Amino acid sequence: MEKRFVYADNAATTKVSKRALEAAMPYFTEEYGNASSIYTMGMNAAKAILKAREQTAKALGAEVNEIYFTAGGSESDNWAIRGCAERGERKGKKHIVTTAIEHHAVLHTCNYLEKRGFEVTYLPVDENGLVTAKQVEKAIRDDTCLVTIMFANNEIGTIMPIAEIGEVCREKGVVFHTDAVQAVGNVEIDVKEMNIDMLSLSGHKIHALKGVGALYIRKGLVIPNLIYGGAQESNKRAGTENVPAIVSLGEAITEACHDIPAKVEKLEKMRDRLIEGLLKIPQTRLNGDRKSRLEGNVNISFRGVEGESLLLMLDMYGIAASSGSACTSGSLDPSHVLLAIGLPHETAHGSLRLTINEETTNEDIDYILETVPKAVKRLRDMSPLWERICKTENVEA
Ligand SMILES: *Cc1c(COP(=O)(O)O)cnc(C)c1O
Repeated sequence: MEKRFVYADNAATTKVSKRALEAAMPYFTEEYGNASSIYTMGMNAAKAILKAREQTAKALGAEVNEIYFTAGGSESDNWAIRGCAERGERKGKKHIVTTAIEHHAVLHTCNYLEKRGFEVTYLPVDENGLVTAKQVEKAIRDDTCLVTIMFANNEIGTIMPIAEIGEVCREKGVVFHTDAVQAVGNVEIDVKEMNIDMLSLSGHKIHALKGVGALYIRKGLVIPNLIYGGAQESNKRAGTENVPAIVSLGEAITEACHDIPAKVEKLEKMRDRLIEGLLKIPQTRLNGDRKSRLEGNVNISFRGVEGESLLLMLDMYGIAASSGSACTSGSLDPSHVLLAIGLPHETAHGSLRLTINEETTNEDIDYILETVPKAVKRLRDMSPLWERICKTENVEA
């Protein structure tokens, strides 16, 4: 097959959609007013923000005044967790429940709170990356102020039983936050039905601009302001709004949530073809749950291969992929997610994450299926580790 460019790293970021870009454009050029100004151009910006807020609320089953725009997923996570911690502290509640496989935006915020005297329970996950509502129920204490559990994992694609966890938290009267950055647009979400009190999402993971996100905060739940200043975002997150980015988010989330079952059906077929094709390579394993899995996520470990080398080789072939989360690459520590599902260090190091989306074609899948086995073979042929595996375990090279 001829060399092509295949972008298979949609969990890291996505291309801005035509619709999101076109909707945002006027707010860079003609309609550059400040949404707080009272003249027509300012009001136009305010109206555009209101429309995006309505679109975002609708996509989540929330009310318009429950949506707060932020600068992205990390900011939403920080606000939700630190805000809830401060709220809990006032009532003498300083215990948080989360999982071992959260995004660093959640984990590092929890680490920070531990230094400030909070106690955090990091629930272990099973070999597929799942936690159960029962585990959550058992972990909740009288002094628990927050449960924060991701909707879907960014590395291995596992989708958590969020509705069940929400039910447990509501029964126990504990605030439930979920980082839904990877789930929005891929899983149908209804924050009311699922008993979610706070939900984080990010624009650039769903084809909007970078640097914009949102936090849903259930009506009646009051957490401290994120930024003090002007009256933007109902007085809770001050600063002149990023109108083009917010507009792009409104359009992108509407597009992403338009017909999720159809998208899931189409993508699952391609994803499964990728998984089955790659598992034909000897000494490989699939990471993440086979069923409760994002329709665009493939995460495979190849023994005797170094993930970063594989990525560089795939880049030469025109394939953009990841070896875990983009945030951890650059460091040599294996992914905390792969370690938490029980992979040995050596196997965790040889992992490849391919995240496809609705723009991926069958030809792209063919190309990946032709290229990855070649690359893995070339790397194994020069790997002392692979040689050792073959010798000590009687594996055929
Ligand atoms: C990307 C990501 C984030 C961070 O979002 P940003 O908008 O890049 O700050 C948080 N959580 C998960 C699960 C993610 O995949």
